[in-house]
Amino acid sequence: MRARRTQGIAAWLILRVSIMEKQRPRGRSSQYRGTGQVYLMRKFNVIALLVTFGISVSIHAQSHEVVLSQVQQERAPLIETMRDLVSIESGSRDFEGLFRIGKVIGDRLIELGGEVEYVEPEDIYYMQDTPDEIGHSVLARFRGTGTKRILLLAHMDTVYLRGMLAEQPFRTDDNRAYGLGIADDKHGIALILHTLSVLKAVGFDQYGLVTVLINADEEVSSPGSRSLITKLGREHDVVFSCEGGLGDRIRLRTSGIGAFKLTVRGRASHAGASPERGRNALYELAYQIMQTRDLSDPEAGLKMNWTVASAGNTRNVIPAEAQATADVRVLLVEDYDRIESEVRRRMTQQLIPDVDLELKFERRRPPLVVNEMSRRLAAHAQIVYRELGMALTVDDEATGGGTDAAFAALETDAPVLEGMGLQGYGAHSNDAEYVVLSSIEPRLYLLARMIMDVSQGKAITAGG
Ligand SMILES: [Zn+2]
Repeated sequence: MRARRTQGIAAWLILRVSIMEKQRPRGRSSQYRGTGQVYLMRKFNVIALLVTFGISVSIHAQSHEVVLSQVQQERAPLIETMRDLVSIESGSRDFEGLFRIGKVIGDRLIELGGEVEYVEPEDIYYMQDTPDEIGHSVLARFRGTGTKRILLLAHMDTVYLRGMLAEQPFRTDDNRAYGLGIADDKHGIALILHTLSVLKAVGFDQYGLVTVLINADEEVSSPGSRSLITKLGREHDVVFSCEGGLGDRIRLRTSGIGAFKLTVRGRASHAGASPERGRNALYELAYQIMQTRDLSDPEAGLKMNWTVASAGNTRNVIPAEAQATADVRVLLVEDYDRIESEVRRRMTQQLIPDVDLELKFERRRPPLVVNEMSRRLAAHAQIVYRELGMALTVDDEATGGGTDAAFAALETDAPVLEGMGLQGYGAHSNDAEYVVLSSIEPRLYLLARMIMDVSQGKAITAGG
């Protein structure tokens, strides 16, 4: 009876909220922010009214109201945190910058009550572009009174070079905050810090363990943190990855990204006087490319395309060396093995017998594979979002980009949600990277509530 009554009230509330949503002014001026707050306050005034009349939704509604009001208070400090983080340059190869920003992040996590350690790169997976010195990850643990273990991911490194900050400092403009690396992924760090701050302020500690990992090598495919992320993935019940997204969505699936590097070594010779004494590496390269050009399998989401090649440097010399690179995308981890063995099998066939082929296959990032648990956790996120009168889109299709969340998912069935961060645009671009400020409150609310609900067994977890 009580349950039915609560459902009825909840339905009424949803109706009420959707009506208010329609009435909500749609101006795009700076009024927007104020209007949004008034709107959210009004919505919870409705709940407060119901509470006053002694209706049974009260307990949850009250705690949600407390979280929401705390979220509203964190908005301005979160913007300041983004300013602080964007103001420290931290390209993936900028070891000094990464050290400095790592220290700032670590200090903030300690202030929030975390046990912090700086983890050196381990089991480094070397790729062609792996930096000589890889930045340390910041790892923080928050211990609570419950049993659920929750992992939060974001990264501190950017694709930008030292010196670019001076021309593109942090700035806000209407509903946007601009800055290099702000969308990818400094806002994600700020979101995690302020979500923890919300939980602390409302006195919530019913999780068993909240672990925060901020790595420093994501933009170079995480050579030094991938094994740590996979290990942490195994040790947690739920993973929330705080990369940004285009539009109001979260992602359940991303592509795996690989690369073939083929080097052909032949023999140089004068092209005019004695070409027959040479071994033309360029001919062999062309042959190998042609006999591996049809390995894409669109139905399986497997793509392989040769994209870069070079050979020789003098017109009248038979080229002794040639190289090419192919880009590979997969949706299943097994497809890495499938395509690698097929390419190696075909390359046993050569055009010129006595040239040497060297083939390397870089598994730059595994695919994030969706499972039922992720879908159910995502559905819960949509419910939480609806409390704000907002709709959350769940992307179940891979769009080509990779993510560190896939390393976390590699050896566990625990649900993994990517794209928990703010709406962000212009990542890896030169002058227009920004996040949408009106996404701060909904995303803070979403992450805080998801941690609370997972902790209390209200959302779907590996154990439940
Ligand atoms: Zn990123």
